[in-house]
Formats: sequence, structure tokens, C-alpha cells
Amino acid sequence: MNVLVTGGAGYIGSHVVRMLLKKGHSVVVIDNLSRGHLESVPEGVEFEKVSLLDYEGLRSAISRHPADAVIHFAAFAYVGESVEDPGLYYLNNVSGSVNLIRALNENNIKKVVFSSTCSLYGNPENVPISEKESLKPINPYAKTKYFIEQVLSDFDASFGMKYTALRYFNAAGADFDGLIGESHEPEPHLIPIVLQAALGKREKVMIFGDDYPTKDGTCIRDYIHVYDLADAHIRALEYLNSGNVSTVINLGTGTGYSVKEIIESARRVTGKEIKASVSQRRAGDPAVLIADNKKAREVLGWIPKYGLDDIIKSAWKWHQEPKY
Ligand code: UDP
Repeated sequence: MNVLVTGGAGYIGSHVVRMLLKKGHSVVVIDNLSRGHLESVPEGVEFEKVSLLDYEGLRSAISRHPADAVIHFAAFAYVGESVEDPGLYYLNNVSGSVNLIRALNENNIKKVVFSSTCSLYGNPENVPISEKESLKPINPYAKTKYFIEQVLSDFDASFGMKYTALRYFNAAGADFDGLIGESHEPEPHLIPIVLQAALGKREKVMIFGDDYPTKDGTCIRDYIHVYDLADAHIRALEYLNSGNVSTVINLGTGTGYSVKEIIESARRVTGKEIKASVSQRRAGDPAVLIADNKKAREVLGWIPKYGLDDIIKSAWKWHQEPKY
């Protein structure tokens, strides 16, 4: 297929681009490089540096590259920043996505795989979390993803645009050959922070609260290797290409690890001491987020291949020698 990837220079997007190429698809990346890295886009891939907020530029880029489908990653994704500056998030994520979806529709591109999030479920009542859980996004970032799902649903109703919204749990890990990986500035995520501590780039890891109702008191998350995520995106494309209806699908492994277990595992894999101490809870952190991934298995035939050690090992390889 000819696939347009917005945000293809970002963390998850760049891994998906590589997998698409390996599977023989042809790829065009659209990215404004505000947070992505041009170095993560493989040589030979067509690249359009354009912002989703530039409607005319976007329309023209899309019309120049007839595509069968789009995978839409481009978005800001820091929860804390979205609370500090909600306008930035609504403008960039929601307005940008509305521009994209309109421009796709004008160009008769009617298949969209959308990068959504488990944070749509807020503080869920049922864990593991299935797609039937009620949607209660509790921060502006999560709300932007919620609104974009609604926009897609409305374009399906009015114009037959078919979409698969993939609600990710905690994306982690990196390419196994060490060429691309996670590089955020500032870095809010646990695994990169733990590995930076292992490298001596941070003095220690702050554990955000150890008084949660979990086995060791620290928060539990479902960490999913970025290559398992990438595989699910390609399956979602194939699902849409076979003429199926729009749907939403959770992507997680179904297994949760606590913050302390992550630090322990990183100590084991890296052989480094990794100092840690407990600080206050971070506002808005639910105690436990674990996916019920039955729908992904049934609808996409997707089975996550990688476990926590693969995640930490691949991330460790990257963080020891980041390329950007
Ligand atoms: N966390 C932590 N210390 C840090 C960063 C994160 O204890 O320096 C915890 C955080 O409270 C959460 C888990 O690690 O329970 C995963 O956080 P991350 O930001 O990686 O992903 P999130 O689940 O917030 O999307």
C-alpha cells in the first residue's frame, strides 16, 4: 500500500515507518519536526516538512502523494504540558487533526489508523481495561485524543471514512539494532529516566508515590514494546484495507509491572546500581492501568511478542548510544 504517516519522525511513528518499509509498503512521512527527529527517517523515504496547522500546505502535500491510507501520529503528548497550556494542545492536536481529516476527505483518502491512548479511560473502574470501559479523559492531552476519535466517527457517518483508533498503553523500548529510539526533551517517561540514572545522567529515580493500593505500593502500568505497537498498526491497515468497519482497539500486553519492578529489572539488565527514592504522588496518576487485549487478538490477530526484558534491553542499547 501507499501509506502516509503523519508524525513519522516521532518515537512511535519512526518505528512504524521502518516496519512498513520492511513489509514492502511505500511510505511518505509528513512531519513539522517540532518534536520529531529527521535523523529517524530512513534515507529514501519521501518526506514533507509541513505543519498540520497549515491547511493549504497540507492539502498540497497530500494531493502530491496519492495514498491508500494514513497513519496519524502527529501530536503533542505530554500530560503535564497539556495542563499548563491546554490551548496549545487543543490547537495542535485537535485543530491539526481536523485539518488533516478534512484534507484527506477532499483527496478521497478514507482509511485512517489513529494513534489514541488508554488515558481516555481516566481512572478506570474495571481492570484489565476493555474497550467497553467508559471514557473519562482527565487531562487536556487525553481530551484532545477523545475529540479526535469523535471527529473521525463523524467523518465516518457523513463520508464513510473508516478508521481504527488504537488506544496504547505504555509504549516503551526501541529498535533492536540501536538505530532509532525514544528521545524526548524533557523526558517524562519512567523507563528512559531509569536508564538515564543507570548511565549517571541523573543522580537517581524519583518514585512518584509508594502508598497506592498495589502489591508494593507503586503504580502499575502495562508496558508494550514499540515493535509490538508497530506490528499492530500494520495489522490495523490491513484490517481497513479489507473493507472492515471503523473500530477502537486497546493495545497492551495484558501484564502490568510496578515502578519498583521496572527499576529492579533495569538494575538486572544494565548491571548498574540505579539509585531511587520515593517522592510524592504525581497528580493524575491512576494506581493500575492494564489492558484487556482480547479485541486486538481477535480482530487484528495480534499477539505481543516482546516482554519487559526485551523492552529494557532494547531501550538500554539505544540510551547508551543515542543517535539524536
Ligand atoms: N514514574 C515515576 N517516576 C518518574 C516517572 C514516572 O515514578 O520519574 C511513574 C509514574 O508515576 C507512572 C509510571 O512511572 O506510575 C509510568 O509513568 P510514565 O510517565 O512513563 O507513563 P504514564 O503511565 O504516565 O503514561
